[in-house]
Amino acid sequence: MARIEVNHIRHSYLPNPKKDSDFALKEVHHTFEDGGAYALLGPSGCGKTTLLNIISGLLHPSHGQLLFNGRDVTRLSTQERNIAQVFQFPVIYDTMTVYDNLAFPLRNRRVPEADVDRKVRETLDMIDLASMANRKARRLTADQKQKISLGRGLVRSDVNAILFDEPLTVIDPHMKWVLRSQLKQLHRRFGYTMVYVTHDQTEALTFADRVVVMYDGEIVQIGTPAELFERPRHTFVGYFIGSPGMNVLPVALEGRTAMLGAQRIELPGVPKAEAGAVELGIRPEYVKLGREGMAVSVSKVEDVGRHKVVRANFEGKEIAAIIGEDDEVPAEPRVRFDPAGINIYAGSWRVEMGA
Ligand code: ADP
Ligand code: MG
Repeated sequence: MARIEVNHIRHSYLPNPKKDSDFALKEVHHTFEDGGAYALLGPSGCGKTTLLNIISGLLHPSHGQLLFNGRDVTRLSTQERNIAQVFQFPVIYDTMTVYDNLAFPLRNRRVPEADVDRKVRETLDMIDLASMANRKARRLTADQKQKISLGRGLVRSDVNAILFDEPLTVIDPHMKWVLRSQLKQLHRRFGYTMVYVTHDQTEALTFADRVVVMYDGEIVQIGTPAELFERPRHTFVGYFIGSPGMNVLPVALEGRTAMLGAQRIELPGVPKAEAGAVELGIRPEYVKLGREGMAVSVSKVEDVGRHKVVRANFEGKEIAAIIGEDDEVPAEPRVRFDPAGINIYAGSWRVEMGA
Protein backbone atom coordinates (compact mmCIF):
# COMPACT_ATOMS: atom_id res chain seq x y z
CA MET A 1 0.00 0.00 0.00
CA ALA A 2 1.12 3.53 -0.57
CA ARG A 3 1.17 7.02 0.77
CA ILE A 4 -0.33 9.19 -1.96
CA GLU A 5 0.73 12.81 -2.32
CA VAL A 6 -1.35 15.06 -4.50
CA ASN A 7 0.99 17.96 -5.13
CA HIS A 8 -0.59 21.25 -6.25
CA ILE A 9 -2.68 19.48 -8.86
CA ARG A 10 -4.89 21.48 -11.21
CA HIS A 11 -6.94 20.04 -13.99
CA SER A 12 -8.94 21.46 -16.88
CA TYR A 13 -10.80 19.56 -19.59
CA LEU A 14 -10.42 22.59 -21.88
CA PRO A 15 -7.53 22.94 -24.36
CA ASN A 16 -6.64 26.51 -23.30
CA PRO A 17 -7.83 27.11 -19.76
CA LYS A 18 -7.46 30.69 -18.55
CA LYS A 19 -9.66 31.63 -15.63
CA ASP A 20 -10.22 29.65 -12.44
CA SER A 21 -13.65 28.53 -13.57
CA ASP A 22 -12.07 26.73 -16.57
CA PHE A 23 -10.61 24.22 -14.10
CA ALA A 24 -12.51 21.17 -12.85
CA LEU A 25 -9.86 20.97 -10.13
CA LYS A 26 -8.72 24.45 -9.12
CA GLU A 27 -5.89 23.31 -6.92
CA VAL A 28 -5.72 20.21 -4.80
CA HIS A 29 -2.83 19.68 -2.42
CA HIS A 30 -3.22 16.81 -0.01
CA THR A 31 -1.57 13.65 1.29
CA PHE A 32 -3.49 10.41 1.67
CA GLU A 33 -1.55 8.56 4.35
CA ASP A 34 -0.58 4.93 3.86
CA GLY A 35 -3.34 2.74 5.23
CA GLY A 36 -5.87 5.55 5.68
CA ALA A 37 -9.59 5.16 4.98
CA TYR A 38 -10.73 8.36 3.31
CA ALA A 39 -14.03 9.50 1.92
CA LEU A 40 -14.17 12.18 -0.77
CA LEU A 41 -17.47 13.89 -0.16
CA GLY A 42 -19.10 16.63 -2.20
CA PRO A 43 -22.01 17.47 -4.48
CA SER A 44 -22.26 16.28 -8.05
CA GLY A 45 -19.84 18.12 -10.35
CA CYS A 46 -17.38 19.26 -7.66
CA GLY A 47 -14.48 17.24 -9.11
CA LYS A 48 -14.46 13.97 -7.14
CA THR A 49 -14.23 11.66 -10.15
CA THR A 50 -11.64 13.92 -11.77
CA LEU A 51 -9.43 13.67 -8.70
CA LEU A 52 -9.90 9.90 -8.42
CA ASN A 53 -9.06 9.37 -12.10
CA ILE A 54 -5.93 11.47 -11.69
CA ILE A 55 -4.84 9.26 -8.79
CA SER A 56 -5.48 6.07 -10.76
CA GLY A 57 -3.89 7.40 -13.96
CA LEU A 58 -6.96 7.36 -16.20
CA LEU A 59 -6.45 11.10 -16.45
CA HIS A 60 -3.22 13.11 -16.51
CA PRO A 61 -3.43 16.44 -14.67
CA SER A 62 -2.86 19.77 -16.45
CA HIS A 63 -0.55 20.90 -13.64
CA GLY A 64 1.07 19.41 -10.58
CA GLN A 65 2.54 16.15 -9.47
CA LEU A 66 1.42 12.86 -8.01
CA LEU A 67 3.71 10.86 -5.73
CA PHE A 68 3.34 7.28 -4.45
CA ASN A 69 5.65 6.68 -1.48
CA GLY A 70 7.70 9.65 -2.60
CA ARG A 71 8.07 8.43 -6.20
CA ASP A 72 6.76 10.58 -9.06
CA VAL A 73 4.07 8.62 -10.89
CA THR A 74 2.42 11.57 -12.69
CA ARG A 75 3.25 10.19 -16.14
CA LEU A 76 2.83 6.49 -15.39
CA SER A 77 -0.04 4.41 -16.75
CA THR A 78 -2.78 2.90 -14.60
CA GLN A 79 -1.11 -0.53 -14.90
CA GLU A 80 2.22 0.79 -13.70
CA ARG A 81 0.60 2.50 -10.73
CA ASN A 82 -0.91 -0.76 -9.52
CA ILE A 83 -4.22 0.64 -8.33
CA ALA A 84 -7.58 -1.07 -8.04
CA GLN A 85 -10.54 1.09 -9.00
CA VAL A 86 -14.23 0.33 -8.63
CA PHE A 87 -16.56 2.46 -10.72
CA GLN A 88 -20.13 3.60 -10.26
CA PHE A 89 -21.42 1.09 -12.81
CA PRO A 90 -20.34 -2.54 -13.29
CA VAL A 91 -17.17 -3.19 -15.29
CA ILE A 92 -17.08 -6.96 -15.78
CA TYR A 93 -16.59 -9.64 -18.40
CA ASP A 94 -20.11 -10.72 -19.31
CA THR A 95 -19.11 -13.98 -20.94
CA MET A 96 -16.97 -15.21 -18.03
CA THR A 97 -18.29 -16.90 -14.92
CA VAL A 98 -18.46 -14.97 -11.68
CA TYR A 99 -15.48 -16.99 -10.44
CA ASP A 100 -13.36 -16.23 -13.50
CA ASN A 101 -14.19 -12.54 -13.32
CA LEU A 102 -12.59 -12.44 -9.88
CA ALA A 103 -9.73 -14.75 -10.81
CA PHE A 104 -8.83 -12.69 -13.88
CA PRO A 105 -6.88 -9.85 -12.20
CA LEU A 106 -4.90 -12.43 -10.22
CA ARG A 107 -4.13 -14.79 -13.11
CA ASN A 108 -3.14 -11.73 -15.09
CA ARG A 109 -0.44 -11.14 -12.50
CA ARG A 110 0.61 -14.81 -12.54
CA VAL A 111 -0.54 -15.53 -9.00
CA PRO A 112 -0.26 -19.33 -8.33
CA GLU A 113 -3.60 -21.07 -8.93
CA ALA A 114 -3.93 -22.28 -5.33
CA ASP A 115 -3.69 -18.69 -4.08
CA VAL A 116 -6.09 -17.56 -6.78
CA ASP A 117 -8.63 -20.09 -5.56
CA ARG A 118 -8.25 -19.09 -1.91
CA LYS A 119 -8.53 -15.36 -2.64
CA VAL A 120 -11.46 -15.77 -5.02
CA ARG A 121 -13.43 -17.88 -2.55
CA GLU A 122 -12.73 -15.45 0.26
CA THR A 123 -13.92 -12.56 -1.90
CA LEU A 124 -17.01 -14.45 -3.10
CA ASP A 125 -18.05 -14.95 0.52
CA MET A 126 -17.54 -11.29 1.24
CA ILE A 127 -19.75 -10.12 -1.62
CA ASP A 128 -22.23 -12.90 -0.91
CA LEU A 129 -21.99 -14.52 -4.34
CA ALA A 130 -20.45 -17.88 -3.41
CA SER A 131 -23.53 -19.74 -4.61
CA MET A 132 -23.26 -18.08 -8.04
CA ALA A 133 -19.56 -18.78 -8.62
CA ASN A 134 -20.12 -20.82 -11.78
CA ARG A 135 -22.83 -18.67 -13.37
CA LYS A 136 -22.07 -16.55 -16.37
CA ALA A 137 -21.86 -12.93 -15.25
CA ARG A 138 -24.26 -11.83 -17.97
CA ARG A 139 -27.11 -13.71 -16.25
CA LEU A 140 -26.83 -11.71 -13.06
CA THR A 141 -28.86 -8.70 -11.90
CA ALA A 142 -27.42 -5.17 -11.96
CA ASP A 143 -26.56 -5.13 -8.28
CA GLN A 144 -24.98 -8.60 -8.43
CA LYS A 145 -22.85 -7.38 -11.33
CA GLN A 146 -21.77 -4.41 -9.28
CA LYS A 147 -20.81 -6.76 -6.47
CA ILE A 148 -18.54 -8.56 -8.92
CA SER A 149 -16.95 -5.19 -9.78
CA LEU A 150 -16.43 -4.56 -6.11
CA GLY A 151 -14.96 -8.06 -5.72
CA ARG A 152 -12.53 -7.43 -8.58
CA GLY A 153 -11.33 -4.35 -6.74
CA LEU A 154 -10.84 -6.26 -3.50
CA VAL A 155 -9.39 -9.52 -4.72
CA ARG A 156 -5.79 -8.35 -5.06
CA SER A 157 -3.80 -7.66 -1.92
CA ASP A 158 -0.70 -6.21 -3.64
CA VAL A 159 -2.23 -2.94 -4.85
CA ASN A 160 -1.03 0.53 -3.84
CA ALA A 161 -4.57 1.69 -3.11
CA ILE A 162 -8.19 0.83 -3.72
CA LEU A 163 -10.32 3.62 -5.15
CA PHE A 164 -14.10 3.52 -5.10
CA ASP A 165 -16.19 5.90 -7.18
CA GLU A 166 -19.73 5.88 -5.74
CA PRO A 167 -19.67 2.08 -5.97
CA LEU A 168 -22.95 1.41 -4.20
CA THR A 169 -25.21 3.60 -6.35
CA VAL A 170 -26.99 0.62 -7.96
CA ILE A 171 -27.04 -1.55 -4.81
CA ASP A 172 -30.22 -1.85 -2.76
CA PRO A 173 -30.25 0.01 0.60
CA HIS A 174 -29.87 -2.99 2.90
CA MET A 175 -27.03 -4.53 0.90
CA LYS A 176 -25.43 -1.08 0.76
CA TRP A 177 -25.16 -1.09 4.51
CA VAL A 178 -23.77 -4.64 4.57
CA LEU A 179 -21.14 -3.95 1.92
CA ARG A 180 -20.08 -0.70 3.53
CA SER A 181 -19.52 -2.45 6.86
CA GLN A 182 -17.52 -5.15 5.08
CA LEU A 183 -15.32 -2.56 3.40
CA LYS A 184 -14.69 -1.01 6.75
CA GLN A 185 -13.79 -4.38 8.31
CA LEU A 186 -11.52 -5.13 5.40
CA HIS A 187 -9.77 -1.87 5.97
CA ARG A 188 -9.25 -2.67 9.65
CA ARG A 189 -7.96 -6.14 8.84
CA PHE A 190 -5.59 -5.39 5.99
CA GLY A 191 -4.86 -1.67 6.37
CA TYR A 192 -5.45 -0.86 2.71
CA THR A 193 -5.18 2.75 1.58
CA MET A 194 -8.76 3.39 0.52
CA VAL A 195 -10.38 6.41 -1.08
CA TYR A 196 -14.13 6.23 -1.28
CA VAL A 197 -16.01 8.80 -3.34
CA THR A 198 -19.59 9.64 -2.47
CA HIS A 199 -22.06 12.49 -2.44
CA ASP A 200 -23.87 10.89 0.50
CA GLN A 201 -22.80 12.18 3.92
CA THR A 202 -24.01 9.07 5.78
CA GLU A 203 -21.87 6.88 3.57
CA ALA A 204 -18.86 9.12 4.02
CA LEU A 205 -19.20 9.48 7.77
CA THR A 206 -19.68 5.77 8.41
CA PHE A 207 -16.92 4.57 6.11
CA ALA A 208 -14.08 6.98 6.71
CA ASP A 209 -11.70 7.91 9.51
CA ARG A 210 -11.12 11.14 7.67
CA VAL A 211 -13.53 12.86 5.35
CA VAL A 212 -12.24 15.12 2.58
CA VAL A 213 -14.98 17.59 1.67
CA MET A 214 -14.85 19.02 -1.84
CA TYR A 215 -16.72 21.97 -3.25
CA ASP A 216 -16.37 23.56 -6.66
CA GLY A 217 -13.01 22.00 -7.60
CA GLU A 218 -11.36 22.47 -4.22
CA ILE A 219 -10.90 20.69 -0.91
CA VAL A 220 -12.65 22.87 1.67
CA GLN A 221 -12.03 20.74 4.75
CA ILE A 222 -10.41 17.50 5.84
CA GLY A 223 -11.48 16.16 9.18
CA THR A 224 -13.01 13.50 11.34
CA PRO A 225 -16.79 13.33 11.29
CA ALA A 226 -16.82 15.11 14.68
CA GLU A 227 -14.62 17.97 13.43
CA LEU A 228 -16.82 18.48 10.39
CA PHE A 229 -19.83 18.64 12.63
CA GLU A 230 -18.45 20.89 15.38
CA ARG A 231 -16.13 23.17 13.45
CA PRO A 232 -17.05 23.48 9.79
CA ARG A 233 -14.21 25.46 8.17
CA HIS A 234 -16.45 26.76 5.42
CA THR A 235 -20.17 27.55 5.45
CA PHE A 236 -20.59 24.99 2.67
CA VAL A 237 -19.39 22.20 5.00
CA GLY A 238 -21.83 23.35 7.66
CA TYR A 239 -24.65 23.38 5.20
CA PHE A 240 -23.77 20.15 3.34
CA ILE A 241 -23.14 18.00 6.43
CA GLY A 242 -25.88 17.62 9.00
CA SER A 243 -29.58 17.10 8.67
CA PRO A 244 -30.76 19.75 8.43
CA GLY A 245 -27.54 21.64 7.81
CA MET A 246 -26.11 24.51 9.81
CA ASN A 247 -28.07 27.76 10.07
CA VAL A 248 -26.06 30.61 8.53
CA LEU A 249 -27.15 34.12 9.51
CA PRO A 250 -25.71 37.50 8.48
CA VAL A 251 -24.55 39.45 11.54
CA ALA A 252 -22.61 42.54 12.56
CA LEU A 253 -19.89 42.09 15.16
CA GLU A 254 -19.44 44.18 18.31
CA GLY A 255 -16.62 42.59 20.24
CA ARG A 256 -17.98 39.49 21.93
CA THR A 257 -21.46 40.10 20.59
CA ALA A 258 -23.08 39.45 17.22
CA MET A 259 -25.98 41.70 16.21
CA LEU A 260 -28.75 40.32 14.07
CA GLY A 261 -31.38 43.02 13.58
CA ALA A 262 -32.41 44.03 17.09
CA GLN A 263 -31.03 40.84 18.65
CA ARG A 264 -27.76 40.61 20.56
CA ILE A 265 -26.13 37.18 20.47
CA GLU A 266 -23.44 36.32 23.00
CA LEU A 267 -20.37 34.68 21.40
CA PRO A 268 -17.92 32.20 22.96
CA GLY A 269 -15.03 34.63 22.26
CA VAL A 270 -14.00 37.66 20.23
CA PRO A 271 -13.88 36.71 16.52
CA LYS A 272 -10.66 37.65 14.73
CA ALA A 273 -12.56 38.89 11.71
CA GLU A 274 -11.59 41.75 9.43
CA ALA A 275 -14.33 44.15 8.42
CA GLY A 276 -16.64 42.79 5.71
CA ALA A 277 -19.52 40.37 5.36
CA VAL A 278 -19.71 38.26 8.49
CA GLU A 279 -22.00 35.32 9.19
CA LEU A 280 -22.88 33.37 12.28
CA GLY A 281 -23.19 29.60 11.88
CA ILE A 282 -25.09 27.47 14.35
CA ARG A 283 -26.33 23.94 13.89
CA PRO A 284 -30.00 23.22 14.65
CA GLU A 285 -28.81 20.97 17.51
CA TYR A 286 -27.52 24.08 19.32
CA VAL A 287 -30.59 26.25 18.79
CA LYS A 288 -32.53 25.80 22.05
CA LEU A 289 -36.25 26.32 21.62
CA GLY A 290 -38.26 27.15 24.74
CA ARG A 291 -39.84 29.96 26.73
CA GLU A 292 -36.65 31.97 27.13
CA GLY A 293 -34.49 33.97 24.78
CA MET A 294 -35.24 35.69 21.49
CA ALA A 295 -38.70 35.63 19.94
CA VAL A 296 -39.32 33.50 16.85
CA SER A 297 -42.39 32.55 14.88
CA VAL A 298 -42.66 28.86 14.10
CA SER A 299 -43.73 28.00 10.57
CA LYS A 300 -43.45 24.20 10.53
CA VAL A 301 -42.69 21.21 12.73
CA GLU A 302 -41.39 18.03 11.07
CA ASP A 303 -41.42 14.80 13.02
CA VAL A 304 -38.43 12.83 11.75
CA GLY A 305 -38.56 9.93 14.19
CA ARG A 306 -35.98 10.33 16.92
CA HIS A 307 -36.51 14.10 17.11
CA LYS A 308 -38.46 16.97 15.60
CA VAL A 309 -37.16 19.67 13.28
CA VAL A 310 -38.73 23.06 13.94
CA ARG A 311 -38.62 25.64 11.14
CA ALA A 312 -39.00 29.19 12.33
CA ASN A 313 -38.65 32.77 11.29
CA PHE A 314 -36.08 34.68 13.30
CA GLU A 315 -35.57 38.38 12.57
CA GLY A 316 -36.76 37.85 9.00
CA LYS A 317 -34.50 34.80 8.45
CA GLU A 318 -35.42 31.12 8.26
CA ILE A 319 -33.80 29.00 10.94
CA ALA A 320 -34.08 25.37 12.00
CA ALA A 321 -34.00 24.02 15.54
CA ILE A 322 -34.04 20.44 16.81
CA ILE A 323 -36.18 19.41 19.77
CA GLY A 324 -36.85 16.03 21.39
CA GLU A 325 -39.57 13.80 19.96
CA ASP A 326 -41.72 14.34 23.07
CA ASP A 327 -41.07 18.10 23.34
CA GLU A 328 -43.80 20.56 22.41
CA VAL A 329 -43.43 23.98 20.84
CA PRO A 330 -44.44 26.59 23.48
CA ALA A 331 -47.26 29.05 22.77
CA GLU A 332 -44.82 31.96 22.60
CA PRO A 333 -41.68 30.29 21.32
CA ARG A 334 -38.23 31.73 21.91
CA VAL A 335 -34.72 30.58 21.09
CA ARG A 336 -31.34 30.66 22.77
CA PHE A 337 -28.12 29.98 20.88
CA ASP A 338 -25.76 27.72 22.84
CA PRO A 339 -22.43 29.60 22.58
CA ALA A 340 -20.55 26.25 22.36
CA GLY A 341 -22.18 25.67 18.98
CA ILE A 342 -21.49 29.08 17.45
CA ASN A 343 -18.95 29.60 14.67
CA ILE A 344 -18.24 32.90 12.91
CA TYR A 345 -17.49 33.11 9.17
CA ALA A 346 -15.95 35.92 7.12
CA GLY A 347 -16.16 35.52 3.35
CA SER A 348 -17.60 32.03 4.03
CA TRP A 349 -14.43 30.86 5.89
CA ARG A 350 -14.40 30.24 9.63
CA VAL A 351 -12.47 32.72 11.75
CA GLU A 352 -10.74 31.93 15.03
CA MET A 353 -12.03 33.38 18.28
CA GLY A 354 -9.82 35.08 20.83
CA ALA A 355 -10.42 35.36 24.56
P1 ADP B 1 -18.06 14.67 -9.57
O1 ADP B 1 -17.44 13.32 -9.73
O2 ADP B 1 -17.77 15.32 -8.26
O3 ADP B 1 -19.52 14.69 -9.87
P2 ADP B 1 -16.51 15.36 -11.94
O4 ADP B 1 -15.09 15.19 -11.56
O5 ADP B 1 -17.13 14.27 -12.76
O6 ADP B 1 -17.39 15.67 -10.65
O7 ADP B 1 -16.68 16.72 -12.77
C1 ADP B 1 -16.10 17.93 -12.38
C2 ADP B 1 -16.34 18.98 -13.46
O8 ADP B 1 -15.66 18.61 -14.65
C3 ADP B 1 -17.80 19.13 -13.85
O9 ADP B 1 -18.04 20.48 -14.11
C4 ADP B 1 -17.92 18.29 -15.10
O10 ADP B 1 -18.94 18.79 -15.94
C5 ADP B 1 -16.55 18.45 -15.74
N1 ADP B 1 -16.16 17.25 -16.50
C6 ADP B 1 -16.06 15.99 -16.01
N2 ADP B 1 -15.64 15.12 -16.95
C7 ADP B 1 -15.46 15.86 -18.08
C8 ADP B 1 -15.03 15.54 -19.41
N3 ADP B 1 -14.68 14.31 -19.75
N4 ADP B 1 -14.98 16.56 -20.29
C9 ADP B 1 -15.31 17.82 -19.95
N5 ADP B 1 -15.72 18.19 -18.72
C10 ADP B 1 -15.80 17.22 -17.79
MG1 MG C 1 -18.35 11.47 -10.14
